[in-house]
Amino acid sequence: MTDMTDAELREARIALADLVERFARTEIAPKVTAWDAAGEFPRALYRRAAELGLLGMGYPEEFGGTPAPHALRMVMWRALCRFGTSGGVQASLLSHNIGLPPVVALASDAVKREVVPPVLAGEKIAALAITEPGGGSDVAAVRTTARREGDEYVVDGEKIFITSGMRADWITVAVRTGEIDAPTLPAAHGALALPAAEPPESAPLRAVQARAGEPGAAALSPEGTAATLARGGGGGGVKGAGGISLLLVPGDSKGLSRTRLDKMGWLCSDTAQLRFDGVRVPARYLLGAEGAGFKAIMGNFNGERFGIAAGALGFAEACYDEALAWAQQRKAFGQALVGHQVIRHKLVDMQQHIRATAAWLEQLAARADGGDTGAAVPPGRPKAQQGSVGADNDWVGEVAALKNQATQTLQFCADAGVQILGGMGYMRGTVCERIYREVKVITIGGGTEEIMKELAAKQWGIV
Ligand SMILES: Cc1cc2nc3c(=O)[nH]c(=O)nc-3n(C[C@H](O)[C@H](O)[C@H](O)COP(=O)(O)OP(=O)(O)OC[C@H]3O[C@@H](n4cnc5c(N)ncnc54)[C@H](O)[C@@H]3O)c2cc1C
Repeated sequence: MTDMTDAELREARIALADLVERFARTEIAPKVTAWDAAGEFPRALYRRAAELGLLGMGYPEEFGGTPAPHALRMVMWRALCRFGTSGGVQASLLSHNIGLPPVVALASDAVKREVVPPVLAGEKIAALAITEPGGGSDVAAVRTTARREGDEYVVDGEKIFITSGMRADWITVAVRTGEIDAPTLPAAHGALALPAAEPPESAPLRAVQARAGEPGAAALSPEGTAATLARGGGGGGVKGAGGISLLLVPGDSKGLSRTRLDKMGWLCSDTAQLRFDGVRVPARYLLGAEGAGFKAIMGNFNGERFGIAAGALGFAEACYDEALAWAQQRKAFGQALVGHQVIRHKLVDMQQHIRATAAWLEQLAARADGGDTGAAVPPGRPKAQQGSVGADNDWVGEVAALKNQATQTLQFCADAGVQILGGMGYMRGTVCERIYREVKVITIGGGTEEIMKELAAKQWGIV
């Protein structure tokens, strides 16, 4: 809920958009190509973003944050992506927005005071580690274990594809404190009944394993996960989703090893495989109760997906901006490209997608800021009506579908942008080229397009 009047909110949005645009245009966009080539951006950028109040947006004042409604936060994400033009920067600079919310929501006051302020000040980096080599969509199948020994948890297992995984000072890790019941695991990403995730002996996984097996790299093996199980992790006696907990692991923990992973895009964002070999974590870093992790993870996904949608919209706009400028000045057959009907129709199509996504995003932000983020189907309403247009759409399904809408908008705009730029769109250094390589991850991270549809189907009463 927001206490702001409409006029105050309007003014705050304009001021914030202006601030973020200036920051992104001057301190990010001109440097991204060099940062991508280097494979990282300077840590100083976190402090700079913190000084401007961007890292603390939406967090309580007592920890150095600035409470902000969805309607403001989406302005920040959208402008940062539109004018910064880098998914790599956005993903790592803001990785605390997926790692930190469970700490704020569930940690003890002492742990919050220890962890949150330095992250919001840009001095420490936070990450979230859920995905494992054996699977990411089926969250209930997490196999990394944490067994209690006195005042500590002992963590064994592996995580993969973790954003900011190489640099993170704090990692919010999904662990299993209960038993695994692989064949009957329930509910992935909310409420899906999925088969158990058996680590596939696939060619892509073997390729990553080979890289991870390079000198100095941690071993990345599904077998390692099995070995973890054989070591008898867990013990809480709770199976499936009910046995999952969230544990905050300090980045300097003994037994934690990290391997950098090479990617198609997001080149300046570090992405890592993490291995936990008997990592001892003080029990005070357990977030919430043992076994309460699955629900917390699902709640966390909504915020992440909302941010991804706003960011995808910003990247789609970045492609449009570059394509429009190019089409207005580039000449072919004696006239500017926009003089050719096919080209200007492409630009109109881009705007059509962008405007539809923006309208839905705004509508959902307003809905959330009005306090409506729960199940919207009134008790007793026949199931047949649950999928009807309007107030009956559940928040989880809406956010999932919005993420798909935004990423499809981005896919369309990145493709059209490269096409309008022609050969130049294939060249390193253009915005469209970079964003084109960054599209795919947005349809995968934070929950894949297929899983988003499954969630919406379930939440909207289709199945
Ligand atoms: C660059 C990058 C950064 C990332 N950052 C993080 C991070 O910071 N933290 C983190 O925890 N994870 C992170 N991820 C992981 C990401 O969230 C997962 O890749 C994603 O959830 C999918 O999991 P998976 O890769 O194991 O695919 P899988 O779950 O193995 O799925 C493979 C394919 O099968 C489909 N599929 C699976 N189940 C079903 C089903 N029931 N019905 C239909 N289709 C299905 C999927 O949609 C997908 O297309 C990152 C990934 C990338 C690429």
